[in-house]
Amino acid sequence: MRKLSQILPLFITILLVAGGIWLALTRPPRPEPTPPAPLPVGPALATLGTSPDWSRLQKFDGTLSAASFGRDLREIYALPEAWQPAITFDPGGVTVKHHHGENAPTTHLSFAAQDSPAAPLPPLSEIHIALDPGHIGGEFAILEQRNFQPFSEDASQIPVREGDLALATARHLKKLLEEMGATVTLVRETSEPVTDQRPQDFLPAFPDRLLAEKIFYRTAEIRARAELVNEVIQPDLVFCLHYNADAWNDPADPWAPRNHFHLLLNGAYMAGELVHDDERFEMLRHLFSRTARRALPLAQKISDVFLRELDLVPYNYSPAAPALPVDPVRPIYARNLLANRLYEAPTIFLEPYVMNHREVYHRVQLGDYEGFREINGTPRRSLVREYAYTLAQGIAEFYRENPRTSPLP
Ligand SMILES: [Zn+2]
Repeated sequence: MRKLSQILPLFITILLVAGGIWLALTRPPRPEPTPPAPLPVGPALATLGTSPDWSRLQKFDGTLSAASFGRDLREIYALPEAWQPAITFDPGGVTVKHHHGENAPTTHLSFAAQDSPAAPLPPLSEIHIALDPGHIGGEFAILEQRNFQPFSEDASQIPVREGDLALATARHLKKLLEEMGATVTLVRETSEPVTDQRPQDFLPAFPDRLLAEKIFYRTAEIRARAELVNEVIQPDLVFCLHYNADAWNDPADPWAPRNHFHLLLNGAYMAGELVHDDERFEMLRHLFSRTARRALPLAQKISDVFLRELDLVPYNYSPAAPALPVDPVRPIYARNLLANRLYEAPTIFLEPYVMNHREVYHRVQLGDYEGFREINGTPRRSLVREYAYTLAQGIAEFYRENPRTSPLP
């Protein structure tokens, strides 16, 4: 019989191979390359975007290694090959065109010789957290298409308004995080828009009424919040609080089969987005300031706590979606959303609960309440409090396990 010392290496090899196959099988498939976008000549910007100040990238010169840049570009920030041809890089550094066309100015950043880890988040006693309750809610809920009212003929039913649920959640969460020692600011405190502009302000430029409304609530509102977050609040971390919903085709049966959960970080830029000068700039700013890498360990803990504590199932993006899986097993994805792109601080977007799932709808009808009530045989907090408590618990566990998180240099 062979000695154990001879068999052991073979056994370990088999284990490692089996583990690798298991990971490869369970990891969500990566998206296919998107077709190259037609290139404009001269400046090109996202809707309501402004030309970036490229000199703001200079502070990143010599700060990131070529290996880190290539890995983060491919694994988090860009869909396959989407950065070409405006961004080129070699082992020495990266060159980005300020706009398309011949003789376009460029910015060149050299790579660092050594890899260095992303800076940890500040400790709880020093961190300033901005809570961004998604959407507007209130009287704007119908206009922003965030008003789910499947029994509209029944006046006793409370319409499900994502903006109102998110604001109620943020108010509870603020209290909990302040008790833990954090400084917390709400990006909006009412069901009113942050922007002073209204749909009619966009009618001259966007003559279609529905389009003007979309520019108002999807673009101008988020740009106003970004200005507030970046210029006034200046947080170390942002949580964008949302509730999810599944699409439905049959108005008689709008009910979603699964009550799911996922988290989003900024990334997964498409070729058609990186054509825009401002989006190229914003992607590189996130990549070099390592916002996703800095937020990821906390996002992982939050994901673990939500899936452990609540009866939510992990959400999977289809391989065709413009999203990149950032974690091999957890439902944490990179997506380029206007808010997480414009917010300069590390930003975690939460998408727990499906509002057109029957249980969630039922819990919205119960309203907010103190203590616990029986839901399907289990005592549960009100929906908005459960969301706030679970997120606070995830943050508390993260800081308990990472006591050495230190202030930024
Ligand atoms: Zn939302």
